[in-house]
Amino acid sequence: MDELRTVADLVADHLDGIAGRPVWRPMPGEERAWLTGQELPETGRPLDELLADTREHILPYPMGNGHPRFFGWVNPPPNRAGVLVEPLAAAFNPSCAGGDHAGPHLERTVVRWLAELTGFPHPPGGGLLTSGASMATVICLAAARQRAAAADGWDVRRDGLSGRAPMVLYVTGEGHSCLHKAAELLGLGARHVRTVPVDEAYRMDVAALRRMIAEDLDAGLRPFCVAGSAGTVNSGAVDPLDQIADVAASYGIWFHVDGAYGALGVLAGEAAPHYRGLDRADSLALDPHKWLGVPVGCGCALLRDPGAARAAFSLVPSYLVDDNAGDLGWFAEYGPEQTRPFRALKTWATLSHLGRRGVKDLVEHTSGLARTLAAMVEAAPDFELLAPVTTSITAFRHIPCAGRPTGRPTERPTEGPTEGLDALNRAIPYAVQARGNAFITGTRLGGRDALRACFLHPDTTEADLAVLLEEIRLAAKDL
Ligand SMILES: *Cc1c(COP(=O)(O)O)cnc(C)c1O
Repeated sequence: MDELRTVADLVADHLDGIAGRPVWRPMPGEERAWLTGQELPETGRPLDELLADTREHILPYPMGNGHPRFFGWVNPPPNRAGVLVEPLAAAFNPSCAGGDHAGPHLERTVVRWLAELTGFPHPPGGGLLTSGASMATVICLAAARQRAAAADGWDVRRDGLSGRAPMVLYVTGEGHSCLHKAAELLGLGARHVRTVPVDEAYRMDVAALRRMIAEDLDAGLRPFCVAGSAGTVNSGAVDPLDQIADVAASYGIWFHVDGAYGALGVLAGEAAPHYRGLDRADSLALDPHKWLGVPVGCGCALLRDPGAARAAFSLVPSYLVDDNAGDLGWFAEYGPEQTRPFRALKTWATLSHLGRRGVKDLVEHTSGLARTLAAMVEAAPDFELLAPVTTSITAFRHIPCAGRPTGRPTERPTEGPTEGLDALNRAIPYAVQARGNAFITGTRLGGRDALRACFLHPDTTEADLAVLLEEIRLAAKDL
């Protein structure tokens, strides 16, 4: 297959050229039309033509996340070891549903490594790789629902949920949307997802959690799960996990942690104390395709009691019975997916290439950048920090009001006429993106429109932070 050499060149040219190209650029109309409007070819086209099309019409229009000045959402560049083995996974092409071949066995190791890195307990079979943390969350909450129903003497798989006390889930307003989607999908009903208030650092108010659970019990509802965040998307906040674990234990409810983005933050010396209690959770969702940079398509569900997930999902028809599967059975028994891709290879390659030290260095480097940006923001008269930095996200906003003295952060107008500032900060991300020199996204935080920069790229430097602030100023001037 000579075309593979062309692919190798395309991949290398793409990766090597990223830093010299715009971070992102809007798609020209005709290119968008080419991508969306193609006719299905009647007869097959040769491989070299497909590669030429890929080079011409696809590779020039990246999302931007390979670039060291991409700070949007939570999207890292791909780890190169992960990139290297992706064609091998495709060529090998197993289904990792289960069985005695390399894929499922390697997945056991990868899941154990992820548990070791985060300090989460790892019983045999205590987790599986998923498409992402959204799917991992479905698995963990399904396991929680299964356990709670069984404790009530209720077979949720046979009888569904109607006719019984509604199950209630507790998250903060900073909790990820995937928790809400999972709750809706599992038939809990959005009105049985409680929004627990947060403190001024956007961390769960645990006294309020305790109160809300007690009230729901009094009202005859069935609190079944509290989901804490180990790194929110908005500000990187880590909930007081140890205190949440106490509450969950005292009421006998499942404690889930969303560590999709931030679980690995526990490796950074300064942040580690914030993660106390992570190892007391019943389940942890984390995303190798976030901070680690495993090429997209890899999440992970870790479970203290994998039997709860197996009880929720195992359904082995006669054509899949494997008498040699051993005690743990097949991965497909622990989640909704049957045919499962070889996610373990790219994750194993990435973790092996970085080593524990490399992961820690990456987490510390990027967390350090977030703290440095926060300090730059605090020192600038025309920026305001909106949340403390715990992981590698800085939440802030631009307040271009001329003539105010510098270096006096306490005198900043955090209250007051904020509508104009909201509109400005809402418009800034796209204006910055369109300039092509940096990429930032926005959010709402504490009732205000905010900018947030998420650091995940190993090659981002402090000079890039200065570029970011200057790009924001220049973009804002034109608004
Ligand atoms: C990305 C993310 C999710 C969702 O995970 P996917 O991999 O996108 O399915 C959940 N929570 C947090 C904090 C995230 O960053």
